[in-house]
Amino acid sequence: MASMMQPQIILLKEGTDTSQGKAQLVSNINACTAVADVVRTTLGPRGMDKLIHDANGSVTISNDGATIMKLLDIVHPAAKILVDIAKSQDSEVGDGTTTVVLLAAEFLREAKPFIEDGVHPQNLIRSYRTACNLAIDKVKSLATSIEGKSLEEKKSLLSKCAQTTLNSKLIGGEKEFFATMVVNAVIAIGTDDRLNMIGIKKVPGGNMRDSFLVDGVAFKKTFSYAGFEQQPKKFLNPKILLLNIELELKSEKENAEIRLSDPSQYQSIVDAEWNIIYEKLDKCVQSGAKVVLSRLAIGDLATQYFADRDIFCAGRVAEEDLQRVAAASGGTVQTTVNNVIDEVLGTCEVFEEKQVGNERFNIFSGCPSGRTATIVLRGGADQFIEEAERSLHDAIMIVRRALKNSTVVAGGGAIDMEISRYLRQHARSILGKSQLFINSYAKALEIIPRQLCDNAGFDATDVLNKLRQKHAHASGEGAPYGVDINTGGIADSFANFVWEPAVVKASPHYLLGPVTSFCFLRSLC
Ligand code: ADP
Ligand code: MG
Repeated sequence: MASMMQPQIILLKEGTDTSQGKAQLVSNINACTAVADVVRTTLGPRGMDKLIHDANGSVTISNDGATIMKLLDIVHPAAKILVDIAKSQDSEVGDGTTTVVLLAAEFLREAKPFIEDGVHPQNLIRSYRTACNLAIDKVKSLATSIEGKSLEEKKSLLSKCAQTTLNSKLIGGEKEFFATMVVNAVIAIGTDDRLNMIGIKKVPGGNMRDSFLVDGVAFKKTFSYAGFEQQPKKFLNPKILLLNIELELKSEKENAEIRLSDPSQYQSIVDAEWNIIYEKLDKCVQSGAKVVLSRLAIGDLATQYFADRDIFCAGRVAEEDLQRVAAASGGTVQTTVNNVIDEVLGTCEVFEEKQVGNERFNIFSGCPSGRTATIVLRGGADQFIEEAERSLHDAIMIVRRALKNSTVVAGGGAIDMEISRYLRQHARSILGKSQLFINSYAKALEIIPRQLCDNAGFDATDVLNKLRQKHAHASGEGAPYGVDINTGGIADSFANFVWEPAVVKASPHYLLGPVTSFCFLRSLC
């Protein structure tokens, strides 16, 4: 009788999804695989771009894993984690975003049969972690350093590295041209960590080959008033004054109130306004600057005043551009024109206003601190330039990383095959179930060369067999062999300069821990 009186306990809101256990794990894994299937075909030099059309009607064409994943707007909680790892790979390393998604999904897919057979996820996670650490150590031991080489040698090596990244992109056809540009830009900014010190300006029209690199800053001509035409458009070694003030005759604020007892006083108020602005302009001129830039407006009066004194001015310069001019020219942005001493003025070898396509550009080159570079990108359609910009971003990140870490490994699936072989060999020395799990991790790594083949239309099984055989040599002489994208066979990737910075190949393994743990959570509400 008492048991019948027991009240019903309601813990969760109505409609809560309480599925958990094996079925939920498998469903998480399936969701991740579905996401990976979307980006799978973009991997490698023969990968295809995706055209994504979103609800707002904007169209993006991209080959970049992170960009595609971001645009997919995934809602599945477990699959979302793949978006996060693509994003973190993008911000940490800048390349290898498709690779990381594919690998993560493949590791999970390999784990699926074990989960279905009732293996506890913790056992899998433990073995995967061991495999991860082994893989990372192996990548490190295989990495070749480019440290200690001369600048010229380094440049050519880095350019080869950048070309590998650009291979698979829309601008792959001009990879040498762009790789050189990227390497020069990265070397120009030196050790500066701020990525925004490399500006990329897009000017639709023209040919890709019309793109050029400025060893300084370039930005589109800002809005200007009459009088501008009379200003000189080229200076050698000018002093540059950077301002964050308005140089404009201000009309009175609407609710300003001035009481006058005598109408003749009115003129004195008008004069006062003029005096203020003339005083400001005088100070600018006295500073000796030949180029005056301001983040705020420079009005018609000021423009004419400067023109009469052979000074160039530009108002409403974007904050980012002004900061870059400051960094490059060695100047400091002033919030007042009082006390403008020589130290706060910047300089550069050549300042010039030039026509680029349909736009006019202000270009500061030969900057003394040299911590900035600007790439002016040309090309047909808008979407084309956008994708070119993303590809250059990838290449810039890669070169920066390679310069910083200066170790590279063989790409084209070579490193993945080698780790796979190493793990298999290691697994044989392990007793118990862990052997199977590590083997499945090893097998998952083969997805990279396999997908490279699939995307290029090669017989993946055939190429993989050749690769396995090559990598089986205990001497390690086959280690740098990967997919030869030109012939459909295998080739020494390292000798062919298909290189990847070691970090690109190590980070998927670093990222794996959180992914597996998350996807193997026993329940998701
Ligand atoms: P991700 O977003 O992962 O960087 P990519 O589309 O850039 O994807 O493809 C990178 C993969 O393509 C790497 O595994 C790289 O080694 C491989 N790859 C790039 N160029 C070549 C090439 N010329 N031959 C063979 N493989 C290449
Ligand atoms: Mg890439």
